[in-house]
Parts: sequence; C-alpha cells; structure tokens
Amino acid sequence: MITDTSSSLHETHDTPQHTTCCIVGSGPAGMMLGLLLARQDIPVTVLEAHHDFERDFRGDTLHPSILELLDSLSLADIVLSLRHTKARTLRLQLSDQVTLSIDFRHLRTRFPYITMLPQSDFLAFLSIEAQQYPTFEIMMGARVEELIEEDGVIRGIRYRHNNETHELRALLTVGADGRFSRIRRLAGFKFIATAPPMDVLWFHIPRQPDDPDMAMGRFANGNGAIMLNRFEHWQIGYVIAKGSYQQLREKGIQALQQSVARLLPQFTDRLHSVREWKSVSLLSVEAGRVRRWYKPGLLLIGDAAHTMSPVGGVGINYAIQDAVVTANVLIRRLKTKVISPRHLAAVQCRREIPTRVIQSFQSFVQKRIITQALDSQRQIKLPFFIKFPIVQKLIAHLIAFGVWPVKLRSA
Ligand SMILES: Cc1cc2nc3c(=O)[nH]c(=O)nc-3n(C[C@H](O)[C@H](O)[C@H](O)COP(=O)(O)OP(=O)(O)OC[C@H]3O[C@@H](n4cnc5c(N)ncnc54)[C@H](O)[C@@H]3O)c2cc1C
Repeated sequence: MITDTSSSLHETHDTPQHTTCCIVGSGPAGMMLGLLLARQDIPVTVLEAHHDFERDFRGDTLHPSILELLDSLSLADIVLSLRHTKARTLRLQLSDQVTLSIDFRHLRTRFPYITMLPQSDFLAFLSIEAQQYPTFEIMMGARVEELIEEDGVIRGIRYRHNNETHELRALLTVGADGRFSRIRRLAGFKFIATAPPMDVLWFHIPRQPDDPDMAMGRFANGNGAIMLNRFEHWQIGYVIAKGSYQQLREKGIQALQQSVARLLPQFTDRLHSVREWKSVSLLSVEAGRVRRWYKPGLLLIGDAAHTMSPVGGVGINYAIQDAVVTANVLIRRLKTKVISPRHLAAVQCRREIPTRVIQSFQSFVQKRIITQALDSQRQIKLPFFIKFPIVQKLIAHLIAFGVWPVKLRSA
C-alpha cells in the first residue's frame, strides 16, 4: 500500500514548484500516463486527493488489450504474479429461457481472458514501477482545487495538502480525475450526459471453496446481479432500476436480502452478511462525454473526458488506452517543450471515435436488453442477430480490445 509520500517532496508552500506534466488523479488513466512519461525521462507529477489506493467497489477488470500493452513494457508477467482470477467466459442469464455467453478463449492473444485484479493492487504496482524513474513524483493526499490560467493558457494547478495551499506550474496539465472531474468543471467544459436506466448496489458475500470460479450474471423478476470472484468473497453488483434506491431502502435491509435471495437462491444462506445498509455501496450509474477534451495547456483523459456506463466493464481499458495515445502523441512534444492545442486535438481525434462507438454499444445494450430485463412484466427478447456465433465473437472482441486497438509506440 502506498501512503503519503509528498511531505518530503514539497515542504514549502509559498514557492511555486515546476514540472513538465502535471497529472490530476491517480486512477488507471493518470498512473499509466505518469509511468509512460517517466520512462521517457519527462518530469511528471501525479496528484491524488486520497492518501492511498484502497477503494471498495471499483472496477477490477484488466482486459486482453491491457495485458498486451503491459507485455510490451515487459510488465504483464509481473502483474499476473499478483493475486488475481481469470474469467475466460462470461455467462449472463437474462431469463429462464435466454442466456448470453461471451467466450474469450478463441481470441488470438497471449491473454484470452479477463484478469480480475483488485484495482488498488494494480495502481500500487504502477506507482512502485513509476517511482523507479527519477523524473516521476506522486503526491498522495493532494487535492487539486484551482487551475492557474494566464492569457487564456492553463499553466498548472493549485492544490491543498496538509491544510496548506501550494502551486504547481506545468507545461501541460492533464485532468484524469474521474467521473466527477473537478478539472472538467473548473475549465468550463460542458458535459453531455446520457441517461442509463439502472443503478448498481455493491456488496460482498462469503465465497465457498466449491463455488464456481467464473464471473456470472443473472436477471429475473425485474432485478439483476453480476457476481465477481474476489477470492474469499463474491463481489455482487445488484442492478436496480434508476432512482429506485430510496424506495428499496425504505423497505429495509431484509427486503434487499429477500430480493437477492429470489434472484440468487444458491446464496440465500450467506446473505446474513449483508446486515446493514452501511455494507452496501450505491453506484449511481452515469455516462456521458465532453465535446472538447482540451484547451491550451490542458487535456482531459479517462472518465473525466468520457464517463463510462458499467456495461461490458470497459472503463479501465478506455482510460488506459487514452493514456497510451496521449503518450504516443505528446512524448516528443513534451521533450521539446512545445505543445499547441493542435497536438492536444490529435489525442482527442484518435480517441473520440472509439469512445463514441463503445458508448453507443453500451446505450444499445441498456435500451434493448437491460431495460427489458429490469421490467418484471416483460418477456425478454434478444435482438435476433445476437444469436449468430460471429456476432458473439465480435462482442467478445469489442470488449477485449475496444474499437481501435492501441499499441505503445515507444515500447
Ligand atoms: C463501483 C464501480 C465499479 C466499476 N467496475 C468496473 C469494471 O469492472 N471494469 C471497468 O473497466 N470499469 C469499471 N468501473 C469504471 C472504472 O472504474 C472507471 O472507468 C476507471 O476507473 C476510470 O479511470 P480514470 O483513471 O479515468 O478515473 P478514476 O479511476 O475515477 O480515477 C480518478 C482519480 O482522481 C482522483 N481525484 C478526483 N478529484 C481529484 C482532485 N480534485 N485532486 C486530486 N485527485 C483527484 C480520485 O481520487 C481518483 O483516484 C467501475 C466504476 C465504479 C465506480
């Protein structure tokens, strides 16, 4: 676990510090970009509001495209030596008659599976790896509060750390601060939100040694759940209709236990572990994008630029692919210290279409499958073409690699 490393790095709060690239947020997008720039000797500082990477209920999936990318950095085998599980197929039971299976085993890759690795372990790994490079700094417990703007150009940020305000000036500021991005708001970028039909309640129940080890999903009676293997426990994502949380809560925790038991009868005897609402975390599902990802001196990547619905569990993939494209396009510019909006536009140009395509795919699944599955009065019917094996292969490919595979140029 990484703890606060910043105090020795930045003791004075009245002298502005300088770096070439300042990254706000140490999620998958920010950490991967920090590592890729540091490997090229580019001074980079990552600022993270939290003091560590521990979060309950964040995405834990690494898809084949990310393993291939890590492989090109000779890091895949080290990541796979961390404690993880592999999902080679995903089975989604949409009703008693309809089951959708997504099979990754036929994919042409060294890694034909989804790797389930706690995100905190993955981020801690990236951080340790990046700290081997002398131009890399990470400041934990540093909350960015303001952008420094001069003559229409973003020149860095102001952040709070240990109850003091500091200034960090940079040639380029990258907002990788996630779905509620403060940088996006401070820069005045307009967020175009879509309306996903569901919210997700996350909780844990114990896992027993003879339980199946693959990820599963089931929809019935107007509710749904996905089950992710987290070694000693199952991480359950219980899907409810958007906005129905308050109603459910008013009925009491027993009503939730009963409803989950109807959906997953095999786990009935373990639901006593969900004793109070404190152990249930609400993910209000959001999705959307900004029209423009940049302005002079500033770029948004990851969820800050395009917040992802959980459908397909591709948010981490897309965040990391944004980081790779940013490195591919900007490394030479950061070395020569000349960055114009044209270069930042090139990042958006390469990433916008893949992002919009996957978000359209997610909207389609939400409208045509999840909305029906969440309606207990309706009989679910899959679009006819999903039955074709070639379409199922395409879906597996889309989830595994994204729309436009990304390779690291400097690897
Ligand atoms: C409950 C849940 C389950 C999910 N499941 C999956 C899944 O299974 N698979 C998948 O691919 N995706 C999943 N996702 C989505 C995935 O987690 C995101 O798409 C992905 O993490 C986006 O990465 P990011 O680096 O852009 O942003 P984030 O991971 O959100 O990281 C942003 C970072 O910025 C920091 N930050 C925010 N504001 C500031 C500030 N002002 N100053 C400094 N730091 C700041 C935050 O603390 C955070 O660490 C899930 C998301 C949630 C919430």
